[in-house]
This record gives sequence, structure tokens and C-alpha cells, in this order.
Amino acid sequence: MADPSKRWPENTAGDFFVDRSCIDCDQCREIAPATFGDSSGHARVERQPDSPPLLSRALMALVTCPVGAIGTKAKHDLHPVVDRLPEQLDENVFFCGFASENSFGASSYLIVRPEGNVLMDSPRFAARLVRKIEQLGGVRWMFLSHVDDMADHAKFRRHFQCERIIHRHEVHSSIQDIEQQLEGHDPICLSPDLIAIPTPGHTRGHMVLHYKNRFLFTGDHLWWSPERQTLRASPRYCWYSWKQQIESMQKLLDYPFEWVLPGHGYRHHLSTHDMREHLKNCISWMRQSN
Ligand code: SF4
Repeated sequence: MADPSKRWPENTAGDFFVDRSCIDCDQCREIAPATFGDSSGHARVERQPDSPPLLSRALMALVTCPVGAIGTKAKHDLHPVVDRLPEQLDENVFFCGFASENSFGASSYLIVRPEGNVLMDSPRFAARLVRKIEQLGGVRWMFLSHVDDMADHAKFRRHFQCERIIHRHEVHSSIQDIEQQLEGHDPICLSPDLIAIPTPGHTRGHMVLHYKNRFLFTGDHLWWSPERQTLRASPRYCWYSWKQQIESMQKLLDYPFEWVLPGHGYRHHLSTHDMREHLKNCISWMRQSN
């Protein structure tokens, strides 16, 4: 729970505040950009929400914050906000909210499918979220992009008996029991609508998930940059090989997508054509910065 005595002085005065436990994960700025902003190394309240829709977004950020760094002076009923999570993004694809500190506040997503739901990376194992996922049909597969965004994967496995999928190059001693360990660098068709694409670079066994030729779940491989208004990756946050990450990015040109849905970084939706142009632009930029 956020501590008002530890609130950052940069917060705009009023009901909402961010305290010093903020880890600068970006969730609040993405969920409620009208309320939260950046303040060199942490988030701050830039403008107090002054309408019911803005209040609702700010409360969703509060619920999603992985470290409970967002607080309010007034008491708010969180039930309506919690009821909206997972939040539908498009078709049967949902943003889970409830980010976990163990994955540094990574975003996770739920794909609701008649053949079985897929949880993309792990949210916090919060009882209220788990109940909502149960109502949406549970979890059959849990696709893990890489080790950093696994958070509460073991709890989800125990609760839903879901099959976890990860690349073998991500597996270390404490996660050797993961059910499906994919190998190699070639894309693997998990079902007619789902393709696991190995994208080594950020980590050695990083993978992205391509769904229905519309959605690309990118883990920490690729994201939308609101500052640059284009797709970006980061050599600064590349833990394995930037050269291989560029090659992996090139591979994605074969897969049309409209949505980029990352673990860290911003989500974005464009036409397939525009997304491809931005991907080409990103690859050129990566080559120049190599
Ligand atoms: S969601 Fe929480 S931890 Fe993340 S940037 Fe906002 S206040 Fe900080």
C-alpha cells in the first residue's frame, strides 16, 4: 500500500499520489496517461483525474501497479475497476492488469479461445484476477516469452494445471519442470492460429507469439515507443546479443501483425501495412546502432 509520507514531491497536489517505492515500470503511464507522467526515474501524478472515465483509468493503474506505489487520500471502491480486468483489447485478446514486481511490472495477456485459453507471460497471482480468468474459461497454455517475465507462473500452473511453454535456452535449474521446452531457431506451429517464433537477442531463448495474423505478443523483444512514434527495441536492455536480436527482428517481417503487445514497453495498434513499415524502420535503426 502506498505511503503518503513517502510521496514524491513532484506529484501534483490532490487525491492521487505516487510514492518512493515506484520502480518506474511504465504501467500507470500507459493505462492512465492523462493522470500519470514521467519524472526522471519514477512516475508522478501529472494531473489529478477530474472526470469519471479518467478516475476509472487512474484506479486501474493503481490496481495494476506491481509494487503498490500509487495511493489516494480518498477511499475509492475498486470493485468496478477490478471487474473490468482482464480488459478486452480487441476480439478475444485481453490485457490482464495486476502486474507483478517479480517481472518488473511486465504486461501479460489472455487469449480466450474455444480450443483453450492462452496466458501470455505471467501476471500477479491475485485472487480477484484468478477468479475472473476462471470465469473466462481458465488457462490451458501459458506461453513464457523468456525468464524475466515469468512472475507467478508456478502458481498459475498449480491452479489451472496449464501447460507452460518456454524455449529450452531459458531453462535453468529451478524451472526444469516446465512442461513444454521448445528447441531450435525455427518457428513452431502450436496450433493453426498460434506460432511460437524464437527471437534470440534480448535473452538467448526469447520467443514471441504470433496469433491469427493480427497479434504479435513480443515479450521484451519489440515494443511501441510513444516518444518516437514507432517500433523500438533497446541495445541497453539487450542481455544476450544485439546482433542476434537484429536477425530475429528481420525474421518477423514474414509475419503480418496489427497489434504489438509487449511485456515491457507500450502496446499499439495499426494497419498491417503500417506496422510492417515501422518494423522495417526499426530494423534499419537497429542496424545503424549496431
Ligand atoms: S505502475 Fe507503479 S511502479 Fe509502475 S511506474 Fe507507475 S507508480 Fe511506478
